[in-house]
Amino acid sequence: MMRFRAARPEMGQLVPRVLDAAERLDRDALRALQGERLAQTVQRAHRSPLYRKDLSEWLGFAPSEDVAAYRPLGLDDLDRLPITTKADLRAASNIEDVLAVPLENVRRWHTSSGTTGRRTPMGYSEADMVNWGRLIQRNLAATGIMAGSRVHNAYGYGLFTGGLGFETGLGPMGATVLPASSVPDVEQHLELMHQHRAQALLSTPGLALALAEAVERNPALRPPELQAGIFGGDGWSPALRRHIEVVLGIRAHDTYGLSEVLGPGVAHACDQGEGLHLYEDAFLPEVLDPVDGVPLTPGTDGELVLTTLLNEASPRLRYRTGDRVRIERERCPCGRTAARLINVVRADDVRLYAGRALAPNDIEAALLRMDAVAPTFRVVAPGRELDVLRLEVEPKASPPQDFERSVRRGMESVLDVPVEIRVLASGSLERSRGKRLRLVDEPWRAGGSA
Ligand SMILES: [Zn+2]
Repeated sequence: MMRFRAARPEMGQLVPRVLDAAERLDRDALRALQGERLAQTVQRAHRSPLYRKDLSEWLGFAPSEDVAAYRPLGLDDLDRLPITTKADLRAASNIEDVLAVPLENVRRWHTSSGTTGRRTPMGYSEADMVNWGRLIQRNLAATGIMAGSRVHNAYGYGLFTGGLGFETGLGPMGATVLPASSVPDVEQHLELMHQHRAQALLSTPGLALALAEAVERNPALRPPELQAGIFGGDGWSPALRRHIEVVLGIRAHDTYGLSEVLGPGVAHACDQGEGLHLYEDAFLPEVLDPVDGVPLTPGTDGELVLTTLLNEASPRLRYRTGDRVRIERERCPCGRTAARLINVVRADDVRLYAGRALAPNDIEAALLRMDAVAPTFRVVAPGRELDVLRLEVEPKASPPQDFERSVRRGMESVLDVPVEIRVLASGSLERSRGKRLRLVDEPWRAGGSA
């Protein structure tokens, strides 16, 4: 007798799974859920010293235990709620000022990286930890990670939200985790991935690129069972994603988050549509004009502003992320109904070169079109408006004849701006395993190539 069976994945294959119900909500159901959660969020925020005064004045009553008092607020009132900035969070002199729950109800603290100033604290209640884990599990499932999958988690374990944030989902899911953040170099990462038969890599794009560079030099170093990666915590271009996919032989997924509203678990890429799906049942997005803070029409590039909908200990109203983004609401072929964040870049990193606005991602994408150039580079941009795009690049191997001129011409023809190139010796730029320094605010040292 003939038996017909649906094609099944091979044992050990990471296959993206069925969507969570929250990822398939139609827009009306989603808006109803967001409206109810916004009322709860404003109620919680009202208890927090961070918002109490502003909200009491605006609402005309003191914090209330009855959520019905907040229900008249709808999604249309969002743009009347107070804005939160990084400076507001930094200004909190007392740790309780940023909380909406008693200090003893906080199960975990994380902070921002503190690269641009004082660290901003983020507290999580028991319920927040559970919700965080659920959001992370959607991200993991989209990559095909499941119970028993072997995961090399190279995000920082500690104050940074990356390592322990992903752990909130990996643990309950039953994945097999190697917490690899303390591994000191690329060679040891690759050795451990071989030894522990890693199937998925969680790391910054910088580490993934450094691993890819090592594998390009010696293909035997490629971890043979590695199939997928979730890369975030730093900007990277779709061109670099394709490069990493080809060299490491994996599917590479972008992920987005920030410690001021949660950590990882804010948005993730699917394997079909452009951009990253925002968890709209947990975050309410707006796109504002970065200069005057006025809401922009849908589909326009502007600053991403997020209101948390689930956070209990640390509700955040209209947090200005400093990220420039466009929001796409068209249905994605993957079936997820949530809005997508397209072309997320740090607003600070967008500079004008001969009048043309370019982000490091644009420059990275142009460089990756040239086979002879290594994908590690630095843009030297001392200021916001520059006459020339000045770049430090390296050849992949010994530089071919006319390397400087061919790179310059290649970049000028793609980007349509004047370009100046300094050629450095192969391997001389720092390979960061955290945030890559693709753009530096330092003077261009005139003169010679290495
Ligand atoms: Zn999708």
